[in-house]
Amino acid sequence: MEYYYSTIVRTPKEHSLSQRDDEIARILRAEEERQAGTINLIASENHVSPAVLEAQRSLIIDKYAEGYPGRRYYSGCVHADEIENLAIARARELFKAERANVQAHSGSQANMAAYSVLLDHGDTVMGMSLSHGGHLTHGSKVNFSGQSYRFVPYGVDPETEMLNYDAIERLALKHKPRLIVAGASSYSRVIDFEKFRSIADRVGARLLADIAHTAGIIAAGLNPSPIPYAQISTATTQKTLRGPRGGLVLCDKQLASGIDAAVFPGMQGGPAMHTIAAKAVCFLEAMEPAFIEYQKSVLENARTLASELKGHGMRIVSGGTDNHIVLVDLSPLGISGKNADEALEAAGITVNRNAIPFDPKPPRITSGIRVGTPAVTTRGFGPGEMKRIAGLIVKVLSSLDDTRVRDQVRDEVRGMCRQFPIPGLA
Ligand SMILES: *Cc1c(COP(=O)(O)O)cnc(C)c1O
Repeated sequence: MEYYYSTIVRTPKEHSLSQRDDEIARILRAEEERQAGTINLIASENHVSPAVLEAQRSLIIDKYAEGYPGRRYYSGCVHADEIENLAIARARELFKAERANVQAHSGSQANMAAYSVLLDHGDTVMGMSLSHGGHLTHGSKVNFSGQSYRFVPYGVDPETEMLNYDAIERLALKHKPRLIVAGASSYSRVIDFEKFRSIADRVGARLLADIAHTAGIIAAGLNPSPIPYAQISTATTQKTLRGPRGGLVLCDKQLASGIDAAVFPGMQGGPAMHTIAAKAVCFLEAMEPAFIEYQKSVLENARTLASELKGHGMRIVSGGTDNHIVLVDLSPLGISGKNADEALEAAGITVNRNAIPFDPKPPRITSGIRVGTPAVTTRGFGPGEMKRIAGLIVKVLSSLDDTRVRDQVRDEVRGMCRQFPIPGLA
């Protein structure tokens, strides 16, 4: 398979990866083939553009640039400064934010920086319960967040399976948190940041919006932005934003120097300049009209997938979707999330098992799967393909033990994938 590794680093054959380390080279080729030949419905994944990948693998990977543009602790940072200044300017323009920090290595570290600015150890915080769709960094006991702060979880309404802002307000009045975190990893509905802000104001709390999943949809103007309401917003660049793996912090100007100091030297050393270059490229791409069209298709594909799966007898949590995520309750079919994700993986369709709200099954088993459309939409799949995929999912799930059916689906998946190559992969 021809890869698009093109310019910048010209590698003589004898120094190439396959000559130096055939084991890793072989595994990476196999991963390329796995991605190319399977349908990826993992909601947190995407495929970066060739331009993003080219920036990410550039020679600035070698540069140490501790500090911030214009105030580095190393010399030779002239181009590091140019890159980081561009990344910051583009992030601010894209999200209409007063300030941006592009150094956080991940979404989790972006959250860590935000907490360290807004909270003291042991403070009370409200965040969405992990079992209802929140993230590990929103107070899980196995994560620094739950170990450092007193998190009070809020969840979705048992009837609607959506956020109930009256219930959240009652909880806030009772616990008087210093911070409320709004955002989720498996919630398919619009989050009303304006309402969250008014609840926060009522109890004297700050608001942190974690838009790790929906940053690309928000950047395209298709879900409401938290920027006017949240003092700090955090994001990842690798999910719907379709950039490199990394974090992003957007904030009001009064908090900017605190955030910068929290990221470096507070919790990180030198920035990953190659990743920051790739972030700058992804922000630029996200400002193009084509990106808005892409996000419209992401949402349309998610709605189509939801209604097709519903038509095939599955239950869609909350009844539908406003974003790229569809949370599917498999209990009407009598199978678990674990059985479903394993059978689907064997058939070439990658999804993840996921707890549904009030799930009676343990987290390793679960009653549901989470499916998402960012990656398949990047490949060019449209509503017609979504209908076909829903049919294939049902075929696999309704004959879990039939390897013949599984092999048939596997072949059909390969055919569809050949028709829609990953951008840049020949
Ligand atoms: C993915 C995610 C994160 C963390 O991102 P990483 O880059 O994996 O650390 C944080 N918050 C939410 C809501 C997420 O979905």
